[in-house]
Amino acid sequence: MVYYRKYRPQTLDEIIGQEHIKNALKKAHESNRLSHAYLFAGPKGSGKTSTARILAKMINCEVGGPCNKCSTCLSITDGSNLDLIEIDAASNRGIDDIRELREKIKLAPTSSKKKVYIIDEVHMLTTEAFNALLKTLEEPPSHVLFILATTDPHKIPQTILSRVQRFDFQAAKEEEIIEYLKNVIKIEKLKISDEALNLIAKKSEGSFRDGLKILDQLASSGNEITLEDVENIYKSGKSEDSIKLLNFIADADTKSALEFVTELSERGISLKEFINQTLHTLRLLLLIKHDTKKDESLSGLSQKLSSPQIVKIVNSLGIALEKMKFVSIPTLPLEIAVVESCQEQEVPRGERVSQVPQGEENNIGNKPRDTRDTSKPRDISNELISPAIPAPISDAQEIIIIKDKWAYILETIKPYNFSLEALLKQSKIVSFESETLILEVPYSFHKRILEAPKSRELLESVLAEVLGKSAKVSTVLGTRPVRVEELANVEVAADDEIIKIASEIFNS
Ligand SMILES: [Zn+2]
Repeated sequence: MVYYRKYRPQTLDEIIGQEHIKNALKKAHESNRLSHAYLFAGPKGSGKTSTARILAKMINCEVGGPCNKCSTCLSITDGSNLDLIEIDAASNRGIDDIRELREKIKLAPTSSKKKVYIIDEVHMLTTEAFNALLKTLEEPPSHVLFILATTDPHKIPQTILSRVQRFDFQAAKEEEIIEYLKNVIKIEKLKISDEALNLIAKKSEGSFRDGLKILDQLASSGNEITLEDVENIYKSGKSEDSIKLLNFIADADTKSALEFVTELSERGISLKEFINQTLHTLRLLLLIKHDTKKDESLSGLSQKLSSPQIVKIVNSLGIALEKMKFVSIPTLPLEIAVVESCQEQEVPRGERVSQVPQGEENNIGNKPRDTRDTSKPRDISNELISPAIPAPISDAQEIIIIKDKWAYILETIKPYNFSLEALLKQSKIVSFESETLILEVPYSFHKRILEAPKSRELLESVLAEVLGKSAKVSTVLGTRPVRVEELANVEVAADDEIIKIASEIFNS
């Protein structure tokens, strides 16, 4: 069993630190005064979900505390308890998910006293979903306990905050991580030097979970762990790996590049460390290109990439590093950066000639475009970004791309602004001229809403993602799909739906 499962704390006492939270929960439990809704806020790996599960046991244990022996406790530990519902808001963030939850909440627990809902990363919910959740929190059935967990409490609406009891988890201190890991080391009969253990604690950045993962990984190759072994984990994503990835990018080999990111992640390499390492390599490449440094191992790569191309990869990786703090799929930001960089390599030859210093065209100019197999369900390059566009790109081609990607554009907008998506469905793509997409809408009401800065910014940013360059949106009033005699009443006719949508857009 992986350490992360095996050593998950099963009682409040097994949780290290967070004393104020443990005491408060114990007292509330003893005096039968537990709240019906909690918010656990704090950094990743600080014990929020573990505490939530323990709280579920405290409430539903057959002998009145987490005994970890009764069938309820055991079923919570092994994840088979039907009255403990864990929802990852990062992937179930829409109103439909919350509506479904509201329906199911009415049903009584199957075998326990209470149904416990743990909603992880709750800040990821959409506004509509928050509103639906709020209604549930306002009138919670007595057989339900909510535990909301988040790494980003400031993104949670005040209306929700006012209805929950909030606990703030602190990032684990290095000595706490050491204490925690020492216990595991003892049980697993591992031999590890103090320096090695200190380095693990330092690199865990306040996360028990990260520390445990690293230890698990190290232990898989032997019971004796040295400082060098630990250093290797952070270094193994070293220059050779960076050079390898940059070569794939230089060859516009998206497939191999993405597979390599997966491989790095499976090797347990910290992608953050890896990106930093790659940025370091890119810096060396720039210095080499400008004759301020010499490095044999990088000469091949420095031939393949021009300075502007290096700068663009640096920018993409910088963005990936930022995004990493927020996403729930840790590999995603790097994957996006890789896809973007590869496509940058494929894009317009006309454009590239000006970028490529003399004598370098031969290396990169005539690359066969990779033929993507569209039947593959998980080709991330197709999901995230439009396919490479042959040069020169005319407005006519842009319009084809936009039409081709329209469904994707709408899908992307939907989770951010449900109503805008609904409105866009009713608009018609007219043309694309001088970097502006012209949409035809049936009512002036539509026009006003689509031209509101909030809607426009969202649509334009999704368009920019699809087209790979910035684009503006403009709307024109078209023919109204109504009979003449209704014209006078047109806006009133459509009132309910449109006014509702408009108010949602302007108030959300
Ligand atoms: Zn029990």
